[in-house]
Formats: sequence, C-alpha cells, structure tokens
Amino acid sequence: MREAIELSLDNIDHGGGPFGAVIVKDGRIIARGANRVTASNDPTAHAEVNAIREAARVLGTFDLSGCEIYTSCEPCPMCLGAIYWAHLDKVYYGNTKADAKAIGFDDSFIYDELALPMDERHLKAIPLMHDEAIKAFEKWENKSDKIEY
Ligand SMILES: [Zn+2]
Repeated sequence: MREAIELSLDNIDHGGGPFGAVIVKDGRIIARGANRVTASNDPTAHAEVNAIREAARVLGTFDLSGCEIYTSCEPCPMCLGAIYWAHLDKVYYGNTKADAKAIGFDDSFIYDELALPMDERHLKAIPLMHDEAIKAFEKWENKSDKIEY
C-alpha cells in the first residue's frame, strides 16, 4: 500500500491524477499503475486498469487469480468491474470514495445509475438490431476451440 500511495503522490508531479495502484503475486509487486487519464487522453487510464494491463502483460495471461491489488483509493465502478473480470483475489484501498468526492473525483453518479433500471438511467441504452447481433453469439456458441473466460 505504501508503494501505491507513493505512486499516487508522484503521479501528481508527472501530469496525472492522485491515484496509484500495484498488483502483488506471491508477496512480490509484479505491476504498477498510475492515473494517466488527462496525460494520455484516455478516460479508461485509471491506476487500477493500468496496473491490471501491466500485470496481464507481465504474466502473459488474462486471468490474474492469485494476485491482489493495492490501490491508493477505493476503486470506481469501472475499475471494480475490471478487477472482477481479471479475477483478482482481493482489493486493499487507502482513500475512500468519499475522500475522492471531496476533492472533485465523484463517481457516486455511476453507482446511483447502476442501481436504477435501464430505462430510468440518464445514459440511454437502446436495443437495436438484435436479430443480426445475436449471430456472433451463435457463432461463438458453436465454436469448438474457443478460449473461455
Ligand atoms: Zn477507476
């Protein structure tokens, strides 16, 4: 956690937001990430996502089971989703989402949206061309050599 916090502090001096994360496997840091949203014009470049991408590259796998993430702040919904998809075993966090909100990084609107039924959310999601889209799922379902994840 100390390393993640150090990354969050250091990142402020290098054009990023005050967020850092490290991923640990077998007691050793295998990947680091810092927030690079504005520096790289990438809205998904949060510290946790960057650390996950690095860990997956280092280990050569999309499954990070057996790894734990230490992040300087409680993960936002996107990062939490990425953590689930990566199958990380545990999350340790320093600052809370309330701490983040207090300095202008408020992700509570996303949590609020997720709690609503689709048709009541501010972001409209409109079903379209289902009959054609489903063909990819049927093709996948029938593929005999697919890699499940
Ligand atoms: Zn995030």
